[in-house]
Amino acid sequence: MKRILQLLVVVLVIGLGALAWTFTPATLPVPPATAVTLPPAMTTQGVEIRAILAGKMMSRAGMAYRGGSMLEERVFGMGGILVQHPRGTLLFDTGFGSAVDEQFKMTPWLMQETARYEKEPTVAAQLQSAGISPSSLTGVVLTHAHWDHVSGLVDLPGVPVFVPQAELDFINSGDPASALARQIGTKNYQVYDFDGGPYLGFEKSHDFFGDGSVVVVPAPGHTPGSIFAFITTSDGRRYALIGDTAWQSEGVDLPAEKPWLSRTLVDTDPAEVRALLIKLHQLKQSLPNLIVVPAHDRRVWETLPRLGAQ
Ligand SMILES: [Zn+2]
Repeated sequence: MKRILQLLVVVLVIGLGALAWTFTPATLPVPPATAVTLPPAMTTQGVEIRAILAGKMMSRAGMAYRGGSMLEERVFGMGGILVQHPRGTLLFDTGFGSAVDEQFKMTPWLMQETARYEKEPTVAAQLQSAGISPSSLTGVVLTHAHWDHVSGLVDLPGVPVFVPQAELDFINSGDPASALARQIGTKNYQVYDFDGGPYLGFEKSHDFFGDGSVVVVPAPGHTPGSIFAFITTSDGRRYALIGDTAWQSEGVDLPAEKPWLSRTLVDTDPAEVRALLIKLHQLKQSLPNLIVVPAHDRRVWETLPRLGAQ
């Protein structure tokens, strides 16, 4: 009996040691970048971006990327990015909506036990305050269909929700990670095709307004139909909305993937996510002015133009 106990203790210590090791710093190898072809300059006037901060979750840097400290609290921001264009207004993701308390009860047990969230005024409420009727939106573009990105859809009834076929298939698949997107209902989902050519090193693209201001590329990995959105505003700034491929900027800047526990819980295909992080890191080396916006890095969002501010 004593020997069995000793053996169990040894196995436990080895197991805990192995788990701890998965949180240690490890940067991804970055091969030399191939040159990217810069798209033609965007000439449309009146294209602007506005960040709408709508909810927070408290987590740790150590849960976001390998090498992050478990002692360092990180605010995981929720929200939507509004892109105003003379020919329409798009909202990228939706932040926490008015039903977040009930929605949170649908999340995995582990998250409910360990995560703490805070509400902020919803995207729909902030649009109203800024004099923009939510029903006037051309559509919502989802970076992906996880609950924290679709939560605010309940406050935007009737607004089209643009997704690629792969993400609609994920929503309809019965996967628990897309349960809320499924429950909200598929009648507003509209599929777009990647009907455009290569863009910044990605093979295919979709140009929402046909002028290079809003170009979306497939970036499967976090979910099967995840996308990156490249937004070019009239002041010449270029943004990359990268969804949850990295939760915090260090994921791209180091680059470093999510620790094993996080990526196992949330990423559909961690190998694809890894390749995308390396690609984004290389892209930033080629385009140092590119503003990479992880969906949950509140530090980055606070530097963006904000709705309601001049
Ligand atoms: Zn997310």
